[in-house]
Amino acid sequence: MRTPTGHRLSSDATDFIDDDALKDLLAGPADPGHVRAIIDKSLSKEPLTVAETAALLKADDPESVEAVFAAARQLKRDVYGNRIVLFAPLYVGNQCTNDCRYCAFRRSNKEAVRQTLDENELRAEVKALEQVGHKRLIMVFGEHPEYDAEFIARSVRTAYETRVGHGEIRRININAAPLDEEGYRTVEAAGIGTYQIFMETYHHPTYERMHPPNTLKGDYLWRLDGLTRAYEAGCDDVGIGALFGLYDWRFDVLGLVSHARFLADRFGVGPHTISFPRLRPAMGTRLDETHLVGDHDFKRLVAILRLAVPYTGLILTAREKPEVRRAVMGFGVSQIDAGSRIGLGEYTDSDSAAAARRQQFQLGDIRPLDEVIRELVEDGYVPSFCTACYRLGRTGEQFMEFAVPGFIQKFCTPNALLTFMEYLEDYASPQTRAAGLRRLNAELENLPDGEMKAALIDRLRRVREADERDHYF
Ligand code: SAM
Ligand code: SF4
Repeated sequence: MRTPTGHRLSSDATDFIDDDALKDLLAGPADPGHVRAIIDKSLSKEPLTVAETAALLKADDPESVEAVFAAARQLKRDVYGNRIVLFAPLYVGNQCTNDCRYCAFRRSNKEAVRQTLDENELRAEVKALEQVGHKRLIMVFGEHPEYDAEFIARSVRTAYETRVGHGEIRRININAAPLDEEGYRTVEAAGIGTYQIFMETYHHPTYERMHPPNTLKGDYLWRLDGLTRAYEAGCDDVGIGALFGLYDWRFDVLGLVSHARFLADRFGVGPHTISFPRLRPAMGTRLDETHLVGDHDFKRLVAILRLAVPYTGLILTAREKPEVRRAVMGFGVSQIDAGSRIGLGEYTDSDSAAAARRQQFQLGDIRPLDEVIRELVEDGYVPSFCTACYRLGRTGEQFMEFAVPGFIQKFCTPNALLTFMEYLEDYASPQTRAAGLRRLNAELENLPDGEMKAALIDRLRRVREADERDHYF
């Protein structure tokens, strides 16, 4: 099946979002009595149905909201542990043929300065990220004929090859336009991690308003079907997302849950991650404030997503201010970016005024990685740069964490501690190093004695004393 513009869709491509059905689920009175039963279901790690998610969204009385917050915190504590995976965004090119109303990269924005990193510039940016301790990137691209699958694959290979000192990039996720199946095979061959495509909004009329029809992104089904094609091409590590602030946030939470369930039902494994960026001011862009999501609703959104899709990683970005990040982290967020710069070439070019004209929107948290890490350890988290599952071919990683008994204790925590020790040895400031070592030792003490712990202690020692790197289980 093809789109009107001649692009090949997945076999059986269907638009599984029924606006009226989702709206009906959100209509009518809430049933606070029902909330407890739904929460209990999610605490037993069972994904919620779209209707159950809607019931949580409707229950906005203080008692229900507090019960949802408490359950999300409990799920986070009991199931996920206290690891937070860290990554950095790397913008490779901001040319774009689309005209998304909210984005500074849209083609009609004459104020945007266009740039595509050449190979040397890309290497320089990667080195700058490695030199502060990053191991995981998300590469971001506008949608443009120049940024085809070959170009993305080449950029990924260049970044993997670029090393400085102990620095290396071990996992690169992608946020770019939807590809056709051939394109996914090309990027998969370059060793990408997660391929992320955000639907922005699942609400058809709003989608049409935000994405003019004479653009590729204006084709709703081509985008909705984007990750189905990825699975069909053999790329089953995908991330979905919605841009909150375009339409009623509750509708788009239902859109995300519908999408996650659609993929899980069809392919046996749901999306690896869900992102929930909130709309930010963007240069040369008028912000329509009608549907902006306030902080209280944002917390509800994250907590409800946590309960609805217990096996899916939640990504919180530096669009949010530090205090908001801190508040919602406890609801089961598994990954955050830190030390982020989103202007083209901004990791190497300190002229922030110039970089601002090459950036997509304004960030809320621009603290350096070291400072974010220090706050994380002071709040009781273990920062992790782990990439072990992906590199050992343990795919369906998000599922294993929960389905394999003891998986987190056996693999995730030791690997988090090993990568954190590397960070403390190679990049941490003295203050962060001291706080980090205290946290690391406390975590070690909590691990049960046995072969695994002995092996971990030995490897930690080799990182510290023998200058060895990249140990993982
Ligand atoms: N060009 C590709 C696309 O649109 O899918 C991928 C990269 S785009 C640069 C990454 C994401 O940034 C978009 O999917 C959108 O959700 C988000 N974004 C765009 N404008 C934004 C804004 N003003 N505030 C916050 N996020 C924004
Ligand atoms: Fe282009 Fe993506 Fe921005 Fe839309 S959101 S204008 S596709 S970069």
